Amino acid sequence: MGTTAPPFPSPNVAEAEDAQPSPSSDLRARRAGRRRQMLALVAGCYLIDAVILLIYAEAGTVPVAIAPAYAATGILTVALWTALSESGFNDRFRDHYLVVPQSLASMMITVAFCYIAPEVSILFLCTLYIVVAFASLRATPRQSAICWTFLAIGLAGLFLLTDKPLGMPHDSGLERLATLLVFLLTIAGCMFLGIFSSALRETLYQRGQKLKEAYRRIEELAEIDELTGALNRRSIMDVLDEEMAQARQGGQPCSVVLIDLDWFKRINDTHGHPTGDDVLRTFAITIFANIRGSDRFGRYGGEEFLLVLPGAPADAAARLAERLRQIIAGLDWSAFSTGLQVTFSAGVATPRGDETADSLLARADRALYDSKAQGRNRVTSACAVPA
Ligand code: GH3
Ligand code: MG
Ligand code: MG
Repeated sequence: MGTTAPPFPSPNVAEAEDAQPSPSSDLRARRAGRRRQMLALVAGCYLIDAVILLIYAEAGTVPVAIAPAYAATGILTVALWTALSESGFNDRFRDHYLVVPQSLASMMITVAFCYIAPEVSILFLCTLYIVVAFASLRATPRQSAICWTFLAIGLAGLFLLTDKPLGMPHDSGLERLATLLVFLLTIAGCMFLGIFSSALRETLYQRGQKLKEAYRRIEELAEIDELTGALNRRSIMDVLDEEMAQARQGGQPCSVVLIDLDWFKRINDTHGHPTGDDVLRTFAITIFANIRGSDRFGRYGGEEFLLVLPGAPADAAARLAERLRQIIAGLDWSAFSTGLQVTFSAGVATPRGDETADSLLARADRALYDSKAQGRNRVTSACAVPA
């Protein structure tokens, strides 16, 4: 039949482990365990084939000696591979299963027995295909090409260089039964291959999804300020560039509000740095809770923040900034620390014409400076035309 194929472990972490170039002793032990399993299965396959050969022998198709000879050859080969595997020899190779050498050995045995017992060649021919198909599961494209080429050469030699009558016995009931078993076991082998490769595809798909998710998370982490959850400086600057470009294209306004917490150094000094962090977090949460989904909020520097308000004209931006100022100033901050009060100063600016982001921010910064100079806890709108 086709059972003398090297079966392989199910597609799981083993695949990733097998790709590791210098395995640890732990990994070596796991690999050796998997090879033991595989070799045990190969031995089992030889024995199943031998049982079918015995049925053929019982039917008088082949001499009785063929079955034990085939089993002995197979088991001896498996014993040799096992000895090599246990000695650690396989670990010298990236493909520690030694797919090509093992498959070539199996092929040689099978072709030889095809020659010795051509009357039941259907069993050996089916085995040849399954051996190479199983080998292809693990083999590189080059290794696959080698195996399939050897199979073609073996078959060509068998068909063209000998005149052996290659048979598929089906005369007696017993022969038909044995031949049916050959086909059934070949079908089982093909079914296993199908199931294995679809499980492999599924595993790869799942890994791909996990990688995508991890990549998305990394991107997210790279964009977000850890303490406040606001966009970090690089991201909010990118957002500003994008929104300004879109606003120019769509002829829409896009205002910015530059915010700086008042006397923040004093807050840290008086109430402690951890309280300062709490203030920054709560401030950010409060801003998020009071802006539109399309508004973007980022941490511009230590206690400086930037609001980008797509579609907001200067007066609407100033109104929003003023509303936020009142909300922050009106919060009961004493829950964090007795006597704690938090306010911010802000500068609002709206781009005109082809104004660059740098120029817009410079105007917002000047307006913010004016807010500070006028006593803090206030919002100032920038002059419309850049100085
Ligand atoms: P002004 O009203 O003029 O803005 O005064 P200020 O004290 O807020 O400004 P200053 O620039 O003198 O101080 C800013 C302080 O913000 C100093 C710095 O230690 C603090 N700060 C910056 N980042 C963080 C942070 O992540 N956590 C805490 N707790 N403090 C921070
Ligand atoms: Mg500051
Ligand atoms: Mg400040």
